[in-house]
Amino acid sequence: MTSPEAFTSHLRATALELGTDLFGVAASGRFLDPQYAGNKPQDIMETARSVIVIGVAVPSGCIDHLPKGRAEYTNTLMAGTATLRVIAYRLAREIEKSGYKATIVPTEGSEFGYWYADRKTLMADTSIKYAAFCAGLGSFGINHLLITDAYGPRVRMTAIITDAPLSVCENAPRPLIYEGCRECMKCIEACPVTAFKADGTIDRHRCAEYMFQTLGGLRCGLCVKVCPAGRIG
Ligand code: SF4
Ligand code: SF4
Repeated sequence: MTSPEAFTSHLRATALELGTDLFGVAASGRFLDPQYAGNKPQDIMETARSVIVIGVAVPSGCIDHLPKGRAEYTNTLMAGTATLRVIAYRLAREIEKSGYKATIVPTEGSEFGYWYADRKTLMADTSIKYAAFCAGLGSFGINHLLITDAYGPRVRMTAIITDAPLSVCENAPRPLIYEGCRECMKCIEACPVTAFKADGTIDRHRCAEYMFQTLGGLRCGLCVKVCPAGRIG
């Protein structure tokens, strides 16, 4: 019988080989923390033990010239999502071949439209960003995106809920809020609709209305463009 560590290593190697840039595993118990307000993996799979998070870096060529090339930016994001979906599917099948169950969390902002658990609050279904934080992949920025070490907020991610025994990130090795935000706040100035504030609050409707009404469905990305986190030089 394969150990949790060996099976996790196998899944990580498979994910990297298939093209992911990020891989981490969060314990499903972390979603019972009172600081987490979204849907829990256990609501979807009662026997869930962990949430695997995979991510790909977004090519900076589609970000650096925004707001020019918004259609290209949007399409590149969707290509990242599609790539992750294929890889997540392969991992889910790999898990099931080993006798366990796996299901893939909906990715918000997919080409099928926004899949929110709550249409009023625009909160995502199971939070992939929270899962990524618990998996040790990054902290939250003032822009409410996951800030990773290598790519800052320029990543796409998805997650797989599974009952397979895996080696999980025991303690988030970094603070919930990205420390570099304190001296920065560039995303607040860049946002055309003042969607978030320095106190950490966000009005998701402002962002969603801007992208879906003003931009006709194209993604904005200005808060991603200006973020210095993870940029070299
Ligand atoms: S732009 Fe600055 S304040 Fe905003 S998320 Fe990035 S580091 Fe934090
Ligand atoms: S994507 Fe654009 S509108 Fe939405 S929060 Fe970022 S800067 Fe603001």
